[in-house]
Amino acid sequence: MKKPIIATASLAGCFGCHMSFLDIDERILDLVELVHWGKSPINDIKTFEQDCDIALIEGGCCNDEHIHTLRDFRKHCRILVAVGECAIMGGLPAMRNNIPIQECLEEAYLNTPSTAQANPERILPNDAELPALLDKVYPCHEIVKMDYFLPGCPPRADLIYGALTALVTGQEAKLPYEVIKFD
Ligand code: SF4
Repeated sequence: MKKPIIATASLAGCFGCHMSFLDIDERILDLVELVHWGKSPINDIKTFEQDCDIALIEGGCCNDEHIHTLRDFRKHCRILVAVGECAIMGGLPAMRNNIPIQECLEEAYLNTPSTAQANPERILPNDAELPALLDKVYPCHEIVKMDYFLPGCPPRADLIYGALTALVTGQEAKLPYEVIKFD
């Protein structure tokens, strides 16, 4: 039987969700038996050499490159999984959503003691090669259809492993009660 192909991406995230995925430790050897690996920062494959079955997406979208990447994953992957709060709700980066972009840039590059010293000419990043910031940080499902959501910051390794092994063996990814109900 043809092995499913999995891919991963990190958009506006901190790579903590990828690190949690790698916390499955030696079970990654079991996964290697079950799947082929496609485009991912884990293996540094940067293009879709073929369409994938399952993609894990970390982070929401804060710039135009993230939108392009997420749409590309939607086009090339059968199942998209939003992994972690940043992908599901925007997470920490979305704290900027109520602050004008110019104010965020000035705070980051001009106003703090360290940046004021390091940036005496008071230059804001303006290279045309840089991805353009969006008006706010968008969760993935506001850009493309997402098929599954794994909550947590980051979701624990067992949860990611359980969901992924269910999906690669053709089952539904089920969430344990305690990760969706806090009481
Ligand atoms: S959900 Fe948490 S661990 Fe994952 S990318 Fe966002 S901040 Fe990092």
